Amino acid sequence: MNTLASTSTSASDSILLYNATILSFCSNSQQNKQAMYQAIYIEDGKIVEIGTNENILKKFSHSSLPKIKKNQNKIQIIDLKNKFVLPGFIESHAHILGIGRMKLRLNVNNLSCEDEMVQKVLDYYYYNCNCNSNSFNKNNSHWILGRGWDQNRWDKKELPTNQKLSKAIPDTPVLLTRVDGHAALANKCALNLAGIGKYTKDPDGGKIIRNSNSDSNPKQEGEPTGILIDNAIDLVRKIIPQETIEEKRQFLKLAIEECLKMGVTSLVEAQTDQELLTLIKEFEKNGELKIKVHPLYDGFDQNHRSIKLFLDGALGSYGAYLQTPYNDRPSEIGLKTIEENKLFEIFCQAINNNIQIAAHALGDGAVTYFIDIYEKALAKTKVKEKDINDTKDIKDIESISRNLRFRIEHAELIDPRDIKRIKNLGLILSMQPTHCTSDMHWINERIGEIRSKERFCIWKTLLNENITLAFGTDAPIESLNPFDTIYAAITRQDKLLQWRADGGFNEKEKLSIGETIKAMTMDAAYSIFQEDNIGSLSIGKAADLIVIDKNIFDENIIKNNPSEILNSKVLMTMVNGKVHYQNI
Ligand SMILES: [Zn+2]
Repeated sequence: MNTLASTSTSASDSILLYNATILSFCSNSQQNKQAMYQAIYIEDGKIVEIGTNENILKKFSHSSLPKIKKNQNKIQIIDLKNKFVLPGFIESHAHILGIGRMKLRLNVNNLSCEDEMVQKVLDYYYYNCNCNSNSFNKNNSHWILGRGWDQNRWDKKELPTNQKLSKAIPDTPVLLTRVDGHAALANKCALNLAGIGKYTKDPDGGKIIRNSNSDSNPKQEGEPTGILIDNAIDLVRKIIPQETIEEKRQFLKLAIEECLKMGVTSLVEAQTDQELLTLIKEFEKNGELKIKVHPLYDGFDQNHRSIKLFLDGALGSYGAYLQTPYNDRPSEIGLKTIEENKLFEIFCQAINNNIQIAAHALGDGAVTYFIDIYEKALAKTKVKEKDINDTKDIKDIESISRNLRFRIEHAELIDPRDIKRIKNLGLILSMQPTHCTSDMHWINERIGEIRSKERFCIWKTLLNENITLAFGTDAPIESLNPFDTIYAAITRQDKLLQWRADGGFNEKEKLSIGETIKAMTMDAAYSIFQEDNIGSLSIGKAADLIVIDKNIFDENIIKNNPSEILNSKVLMTMVNGKVHYQNI
């Protein structure tokens, strides 16, 4: 299954955009060679010509020209009044249903205290229960699910209990997940439904926080406070009614709207199962897909172009597989989540069947593990029993590997000794700049300053070796907003906490705006074999473009006020020459 495309525009649609600053990269350029234009002419969803106002208007707005004769009544000429045009963003790693789901869940982010959170839940309860709104559909109507609280941002920086929440909402179950997803607050009603009480044992890999010895109310001792950690959250999650296909349809619809609003015209869906694939195809057939979706199929199956694997977990929960132990937990090194023989077998099959592998490997140990096993598989499948120390064989293997375009997802920590192998094998690193600016607050504590400096999100070091980076957000874990990604990549600073280190966190790894945009367009397209169709505004490619309100390449903004980039507005999003979003 290849990239699923939005429905093409009807054959008679021709659009001429002029009076703009149009910025793109020269097609298939190895360098960050940027090109500037003023006008663009689009026919049948494709870019026919791009150039100066004078040239394009002279050539195409004249109705006697044979090229547009058949469409002369349909040609739409738009004066962009000096606005700024970029190729549509390609989101390289996101979870599309999650993006839509978040739109319907209660958001308890950015509040200043627990009382505010309880009030927000109460407002949500009255609004949704009483007015029978669509978003509170029947199947989940007895549950309130929220996400985003962070006690570190509250006046009192303590974990909450469910006392106030249970009093406010006594007979509807409520589950509010912490911002990082590793803790949740359940009200009494939810705990009761899940059968969690004083005598419930902590599950493996989880903890039920309990009241400590209290003189004022000795009866309460050992009773759960409502806070559940890691796997203990599943005790509640597993009794929440499953989502219906109708709900998933609604999530997908909302996610597509969100993408168009953010200027995302293509998206790599990072964990696609059969049900989601069917849903995406249904949308495509009905013309509702609007954006382009490239699925990474979850688990090995030869019928799919690109396959997603998991090699380890995440840094936040000590699941990322490291080469040497965590600094703040010296007995732990993380977890390999796929066994060597199995990984080797999958690699061999993928190589033989020309299937792309995209493997989640976050820790430096997992990245090394990926490369070690991959090299073994390449040697076995292509050079068979021969001695591969022969230079020619090595060159052969490398060129085979470059054609396969295997991707490593996240690669937050990389051993500098692996850089040469990544380069020679042509591995693509699918990274998320906002993961860097979220994790940098605790990364030194977790892995120590030296490792953090040499290995953590080393974008610039990788680009200096001409390694291909494809940027994304892992939305809904991080915000889908591409301008947040740009800001994170060029400043390495946190937009929310106004976290400031001189010049940004490990500033030598900051990127230029051009390098960043390239990883979000051209190189992201290459990472899904779409560089001939999308990723730059070039003749013959699809007219996937966005109009924004400011020139984010402006030296003054970049140097003196990069946070201006965060306020950029998408004014128009076009996919295959069709305007799907407009906010002018
Ligand atoms: Zn992900």
